[in-house]
Amino acid sequence: MQGVFEEKGPSNRYVAEKEGQMTQEPIRLSGKKTSTFIDKVKELLPDGGNLNLCLTCGACSSGCPATGLEGMDPRKFLRMAALGMDEEVTSTPWVWMCSMCQRCIYVCPMKIDIPRLVYFARQSWPRETRPKGILGSCDMALKNDTCSAMGAGEEDFQFVVEDVLEEYREAQPEFAEMEAPIDKQGAEFFVNQNSREPVTEPDELLPLWKILHTVGADWTYGSKGWAAENYCMFLADDESWKHITQTAVKQADDLGCKVFLNTE
Ligand code: SF4
Ligand code: SF4
Repeated sequence: MQGVFEEKGPSNRYVAEKEGQMTQEPIRLSGKKTSTFIDKVKELLPDGGNLNLCLTCGACSSGCPATGLEGMDPRKFLRMAALGMDEEVTSTPWVWMCSMCQRCIYVCPMKIDIPRLVYFARQSWPRETRPKGILGSCDMALKNDTCSAMGAGEEDFQFVVEDVLEEYREAQPEFAEMEAPIDKQGAEFFVNQNSREPVTEPDELLPLWKILHTVGADWTYGSKGWAAENYCMFLADDESWKHITQTAVKQADDLGCKVFLNTE
């Protein structure tokens, strides 16, 4: 079958109106295809991720921050997968522009798991061809038990935390008793922190500490696994994602913490 599948839903109109000149490319079919990609993904997800229930309403695309990039949007991506356009779906760089925010699932009347479809499309890329920024951050995090994608070690983190805390206690007497413990045995909350704060914006550590102090929370960072970011998840590298997560969870368990408070 030859033909053109025109996408005319609300998301495309929205993008065209919003961007003025921007238009969505129609999906061009070059012949009958048998999809293997979407079928494989369906087998991996509970209830097949509901991937065959799309109503083409466009709600997903209207709120997606990646709509219009690379001429793609979540509805179009799903339609192309459903039409068996495996080569296009597994090669478009758009999959790396999805933020995995899951907004599309929240608004979808059929609760279709598009982010997981995107995730498996990412996995079809050979690891070394995936975006360098995400790849490098994941690999850096794997080098250190802190799990910091910026390569910050245990001593670096401890130095910054103690330095910022001491300075603030002196400057603000009402917070003279505030604490920012690391490896406090038996603390209720295990708290993690994006590496960006201790490495580049140390003063940004303070708002969270002040909240925890004000509510009287019994909390601690871990010397291991304190870094909250997990670029290995965005890289769609299951083993590395699991390693990063296990490192942090093990530290929380070893300290006897009851609640893992993920700040990312
Ligand atoms: S919101 Fe759901 S049903 Fe509507 S187009 Fe998107 S995936 Fe399909
Ligand atoms: S998860 Fe991805 S596809 Fe879904 S709304 Fe967010 S950016 Fe868009």
